[in-house]
Amino acid sequence: MKVLALSGGTGTPKLLKGFEGVIGQENVSVIVNTSDNIWLNGLYIAPDIDSIIYLFSGLLDVERGWGIKGDTFNSFEALKTYGAQDWFHIGDRDLATHLHRTYLLNSGYSLTSVTKYMAFKLGVKASVLPMCNEHVEARVLTDHGDLHIQEYLVKYRMKPKVYGIAFSGIGKAKAPQEVLKAINESELVVIGPSNPINSVGPILMVPGVKERIIEKRSSGVPVIAVSPIIGGRPLKGPAHIFLNALGYEASSFGVAEVYADVATAILVDRVDEGEASRIRSKLGLTTYVEDIVMRDLDSKVKLARRILDIARELGRH
Ligand code: GDP
Repeated sequence: MKVLALSGGTGTPKLLKGFEGVIGQENVSVIVNTSDNIWLNGLYIAPDIDSIIYLFSGLLDVERGWGIKGDTFNSFEALKTYGAQDWFHIGDRDLATHLHRTYLLNSGYSLTSVTKYMAFKLGVKASVLPMCNEHVEARVLTDHGDLHIQEYLVKYRMKPKVYGIAFSGIGKAKAPQEVLKAINESELVVIGPSNPINSVGPILMVPGVKERIIEKRSSGVPVIAVSPIIGGRPLKGPAHIFLNALGYEASSFGVAEVYADVATAILVDRVDEGEASRIRSKLGLTTYVEDIVMRDLDSKVKLARRILDIARELGRH
């Protein structure tokens, strides 16, 4: 089965590891959020793309959830001597990715081409697709002012009070041909357990993407979402804060509400059994109560397998 996933940089990549184990990387395509990309010290950094190409190439520091395992930070320390930014850690090997990406982008190549090339060089067999080639930036309006999302998350460690979130440049973004082709060829679309507002949200906002996925759903391709909220809280990050900021409940129900017009079904955790009946009755969305916390490879593979079974089940109806 050809699986297409929509992903941020932390939750969905765990599930992608599971799919890799069950159907092989070559059957997996991923549309990746790029709205947390940032220019720092003259380098263009694409954190979610990096996490995914490092994941599929086996380089990812799985414990930390970002960067390359065993990386050192000598260049980062040296840069600090010159007063360069010191809040976004960049490892020595990781730096090579940012340097070369920036060089290629400055040479005029698109982010899609550069990502495809770098993934190939790292031996990645999955198709890793930036959501768009244009620069889109997630901005967070806080009591510290208007911040880039990385400043909010990393520099200020999610402490400022949030008044709103916006995606500057999204209106001018275009879905790359490669993204549209991946949607067309998919046999299952998985909205992974990533932040629904600032990871999956911008992917679905790229003009054309959501519409194409809905078209696929009408042709019988299941669109299965996995909640990143467990018992009213994300396992990590600001999903609850951003859901609230946009007027949604910080719950699996709130997540289901965000995806109600695009998903065929949603998976929620066993602790959210009560949410499931509310989702079914109020939103009319097919809901499965499952073990959706992925602690190790075994639970990642198990969840991927379960999603594939559900997709087959839904496909028969
Ligand atoms: P970011 O790009 O680093 O912001 O990360 P993502 O948006 O990809 O993922 C963040 C979300 O992943 C959080 O809301 C977490 O609750 C969720 N998450 C992390 N691990 C798991 C897991 O094992 N299961 C589920 N269901 N969600 C998870």
